[in-house]
This record gives sequence, structure tokens and C-alpha cells, in this order.
Amino acid sequence: MAFAVKTLKKSGYDVYRMLQHGRFISNSPALLQYKIVSDKDPEMDMKSLVDRTAHHFFLNELIRGLGLTLAHIFKEPATINYPFEKGPLSPRFRGEHALRRYPSGEERCIACKLCEAICPAQAITIEAEEREDGSRRTTRYDIDMTKCIYCGFCQEACPVDAIVEGPNFEYSTETHEELLYNKEKLLLNGDKWEPEIAANIEADYLYR
Ligand code: SF4
Ligand code: SF4
Repeated sequence: MAFAVKTLKKSGYDVYRMLQHGRFISNSPALLQYKIVSDKDPEMDMKSLVDRTAHHFFLNELIRGLGLTLAHIFKEPATINYPFEKGPLSPRFRGEHALRRYPSGEERCIACKLCEAICPAQAITIEAEEREDGSRRTTRYDIDMTKCIYCGFCQEACPVDAIVEGPNFEYSTETHEELLYNKEKLLLNGDKWEPEIAANIEADYLYR
């Protein structure tokens, strides 16, 4: 026995801890970094035994568990009943794109093509020409929403707040074609979501 203990100590094992935990525990520097995370062995003295028996007999843990469940019944639930209830959205939420108009009904977009140039996914295609009154407007404004990565760069680049990512996130479709947005669709989105978009832009300026 003495020889075995001596040999184990020489090999870097902590004999005292081995006896305590009933397994080999090395004292080598690398292995000493590990911690034992298993439960401690239960105490076997008379008081601990009686305590454990009483806990089992009176279903202590079961009653505590039921109490916890009961307490949670009266708390406000952490979940919501989507789609009938919806959670709050940040004013900076980047959802479905929209092209905005001025209150007069005139399109904001001046066809500068900054959004098209900055789009990392090359999802935007713009064609433009000069109107009779000398103003420059788009004749084509397409966004391939299946390419879009919702980075918000187009919105950031726009000097007149024309292209924005609105609050709508419920526009899933069954076909790819339905997600190829043209100018009419984007302007319709702008008309539909203008109150929310304007409020979000104002709130965002306030927090800057
Ligand atoms: S959000 Fe980003 S990826 Fe999508 S259209 Fe705008 S710039 Fe392109
Ligand atoms: S949406 Fe804005 S950035 Fe894009 S072309 Fe029109 S004015 Fe320029």
C-alpha cells in the first residue's frame, strides 16, 4: 500500500483527493486547471440522512416546483399572440423598401443614383431622363428584393430621404417574381406607410 501511494505521488497524483473523490486526479500543471463540476457526494451522517428522508417523505421538491409553476401563472406572459399581437419595433428597423413622395404628391427621388452605386448587393437598377420642366426623374426604379441584404446603405446614401426601409416585415411571397419590385410597387409602399416612415425618421433624428 505504502509503495502504491509513493508511486502515485511520484507520478503526480494527489492521493488525498483521489481518496476523497474516488477517482484519479493528477497534480500535473495542465490537469490542475480543470475543475470538478459533478455534484458533491451526499453527506452520510445521521442528521443529513434524516433531512433527506424528510424531504422525500413530504414531497418537498414537488411542492416547491408546483409553487413555482403557480407563481408564473399569474405573471405577465413573455410571449405574444402573433399575428394578432405585435411587439414594438425600433425606429431604425430595416424592413420592406418604399419610395416616398413630398406632401404635394411629387416624387422625392431626383435620380442621382447614389443608392444604386452604394448597394453592395447590386439589387437596385435605375434609369432616368430629364422631364420637360428640366427636373430629373427616374423612368425605372427596380429593386430585386431577393438580392437585398437589408444593410440600409441605400437609405443612408439618399440625399432627399426618398428610398427608405419601412416598418413592414410581412411581405413574404411564394414566387421569386413577386419580390422583383418596380417603381410603382415602391411608390405604393411609400404611400401606404408614409405616416409610420415619417414618424420613424423623426424619432431617429431625435436620438442622434
Ligand atoms: S438595403 Fe442594402 S442591399 Fe438592400 S437595396 Fe439597400 S443598399 Fe442594396
Ligand atoms: S432614391 Fe435617393 S439616392 Fe436613390 S436615386 Fe433617388 S434620390 Fe438618389
